[in-house]
Amino acid sequence: MGFNIKEGKKYVIRIHDLGDSGEGVGRIEGITVFVEGLVPGDRALVEIVKVKKSYALGKIVEIKENSDIKQEPPCSHFPECGGCQIQNLIYQKQLKFKKLKVEAAIERIAGLKGINVKETLGMENPFHFRNKAQLPFGKENGKVVIGFYRKKSHEIVDIKKCLIQNPINDDIVETLREYLSEIDYPVYEEPTHKGVLRHLILRNSYKTGDIMAVLVTNGESFPKKKEIVSLLTSNFPQVKTVVQNINSKKTNVITGPESKVLFGSGRMTDYIGDLSFEISPVSFLQVNTKQTEVLYGKVLEYADIGPEDIVFDIYSGIGTISLFLAKKAKKVYGIEVVKPAVADANHNAELNGVTNVEFHSGRAEKVVPRLYESGIRADVVVVDPPRKGCEEIVLDTIAHMKPKRIVYVSCKPSTLARDLAYLKKKGYITQEVQPVDLFPHSTHVEAVTLLVKKRSD
Ligand code: SAH
Repeated sequence: MGFNIKEGKKYVIRIHDLGDSGEGVGRIEGITVFVEGLVPGDRALVEIVKVKKSYALGKIVEIKENSDIKQEPPCSHFPECGGCQIQNLIYQKQLKFKKLKVEAAIERIAGLKGINVKETLGMENPFHFRNKAQLPFGKENGKVVIGFYRKKSHEIVDIKKCLIQNPINDDIVETLREYLSEIDYPVYEEPTHKGVLRHLILRNSYKTGDIMAVLVTNGESFPKKKEIVSLLTSNFPQVKTVVQNINSKKTNVITGPESKVLFGSGRMTDYIGDLSFEISPVSFLQVNTKQTEVLYGKVLEYADIGPEDIVFDIYSGIGTISLFLAKKAKKVYGIEVVKPAVADANHNAELNGVTNVEFHSGRAEKVVPRLYESGIRADVVVVDPPRKGCEEIVLDTIAHMKPKRIVYVSCKPSTLARDLAYLKKKGYITQEVQPVDLFPHSTHVEAVTLLVKKRSD
């Protein structure tokens, strides 16, 4: 295709949409152009910096007209820090954008028209909501830096104040930063794979305020271990446990297989609603507890379970949704591929005195058909798959079981839309979609969908 649009050329464009990383999306001569720093409604002079097959990248030369949905980003590290992508959008507009994103995916990808997509359920105060921070250590000009990665890079932005974490984390990080800089501590340096401290993970209990600190080290050796533990625990009584996690691999994965408890019990309890969950240094938990309660509340409402219902919770993680479902159901089957998560799930069931739940470890593609073949039928199914959505065999088997309802929890609108279209062919009608904002200031969209079985079948 002979595009006229050329690298180095300048154009005035109007932004009409937001891309997946929060960049502005506009169009020049029919070609989609992504420009970082712009939001829908902005009009700007833009220089084209790259032309690809089906799109182009531009950079701002001059903003001609500012969109009225833009705001001064509340965090001084924006947009340098890669943690938040859309702090420059008024929060109510962020919520609107998330709803539109779900709606557009369902219309364009699934070809389903007129689906009832509700307004996104957002937070009253969309700050300090995270219950976990994972901060890489690094060195810059001889000083220790602790922070977050710069957008699309592994350079570290030295974060002094993060508005989406628990404020106490800023003080913990500052105390550690000062101490390590003073003694010129050998923090990990990614390019050379040398040095000791790789990441600091802070897990904050939403209900109790307790903190678990995990120090990820590049091998067993941990110089100044005692001093660091004492620095954390004597200055911050909220730090109830400190754990060393060993990760000596050259990898982007943050934690390694081995953890050593240095202080306290090595575990921490948190609550979602009235259920308690014991968390290990590496166990998965949704990072926004408050909104998780909103999300699960919607799941329960849509699932509408009666005391005789057999329920499947596919992609069950540490069994959080399963345990809520189990309180209303006859029996719940949780299916999850990660073995330690299944161990956590069993432990959590015991902790909460829930006995009518059975967790199966393995890939849903194998386990769900196996349970079906053994004669088990679900009355209601909940799925909460990873970003790539559900495998067809999982959806096929669900449809064979003929449940009354399917509740689909999705973290990616495009795969949700694909699966809704597939389920329609299998006799399940999308009734309602409720986006929930679990990640304010990011472009992540979470949505719960209710599907019901067509009456004629
Ligand atoms: N429902 C849980 C977790 C959802 S995250 C919660 O609300 O906390 C998605 C989960 O799917 C993860 O725990 C992941 O380990 C699991 N998973 C990914 N692929 C899978 C597969 N093929 N079969 C079963 N589980 C899978």
